[in-house]
Amino acid sequence: GMPPLPPPTLAERRPTRQIKVGKVLVGGGAPISVQSMTTTLTSDINATLQQIAALTASGCDIVRVAVPSQDDADALPAIARKSQIPVIADIHFQPKYVFAAIEAGCAAVRVNPGNIKAFDDRVGEIAQAAREAGVSLRIGVNAGSLDKRLLAKHGKATPEALVESALWEASLFEEHGFGDFKISVKHNDPVIMVRAYELLSEQCDYPLHLGVTEAGPAFQGTIKSAVAFGALLSKGIGDTIRVSLSADPVEEVKVGSKILESLNLRPRKLEIVSCPSCGRAQVDVYKLAEEVTAGLEGLTVPLRVAVMGCVVNGPGEAREADLGVASGNGKGQIFVRGEVIKTVKESEIVETLIEEAMRIADELGDS
Ligand code: SF4
Repeated sequence: GMPPLPPPTLAERRPTRQIKVGKVLVGGGAPISVQSMTTTLTSDINATLQQIAALTASGCDIVRVAVPSQDDADALPAIARKSQIPVIADIHFQPKYVFAAIEAGCAAVRVNPGNIKAFDDRVGEIAQAAREAGVSLRIGVNAGSLDKRLLAKHGKATPEALVESALWEASLFEEHGFGDFKISVKHNDPVIMVRAYELLSEQCDYPLHLGVTEAGPAFQGTIKSAVAFGALLSKGIGDTIRVSLSADPVEEVKVGSKILESLNLRPRKLEIVSCPSCGRAQVDVYKLAEEVTAGLEGLTVPLRVAVMGCVVNGPGEAREADLGVASGNGKGQIFVRGEVIKTVKESEIVETLIEEAMRIADELGDS
């Protein structure tokens, strides 16, 4: 028969040119990738590779490492060689590390024009080295390190100032016939950030790397990023994303992945549909939802599991899901693809749901 239609999204992706970050394609219709950044000392090769392995396991597509010193630059060849995902070297201040990163086999280099003083003079050399090595760049403009000339001109880091800075740097590379880069214009204020990316997307066809910078601790940062990325992605803007959190970078990857899954921009995996509970609930919904979520963590197949507190919406939602429970009277009706397969005691709901989920996952070919 016909293959199933892909799930609907809110907008067509904005067409952009495509670049390569190692084996990952960015822009030009490629799936939106999720990035994160290591928090280890890059010079500590083992610790950095361990963190990269954890990020890879959590679904990170591309990882960035900071290169503030020669020791860090010296660690890049080993890290680039052993990482399972493409490594981007993040360079501020020192053009010499850009060349070191390219030589080390990094997939890409992030440069911040506002922070590389002698940068403009060396654009031609950087472009040539990058082209010869097949390395792409990110022109990463940040509100906090905006070019002094533009800060003076615009008074502060307005959307227009961020975009002008980015396009100015882009033009320097274009003068050397180089266009293999993506652009970011990050700000900690989602409103300014969204406006900046909207303006940028009207004025160029480079792939865009979305980020709310200094978004804050996990709760605030998650919300700021979800709101800002959601506003842009729902208009088709954004080709790769990085959620910045003052938290374990694995959390950044989980949040980024969930944002893309929510908008059908990447296949949904485990999705728990649980009710908020209310005065009608006949079980502890929070505990039930938490235990089911914990029991199914790491499942890689698409599975919608409904956990409902009572019979008002319970059977309906449970029926719509792949698997679900509607609770009441100390019992749980277990639904699989719309059919009640059994009714179990309340104390057996969690184990039954996990058992059934594993069985379905096996059928779907989970490894
Ligand atoms: Fe309340 Fe039942 Fe709805 Fe849960 S499913 S919120 S318990 S009415």
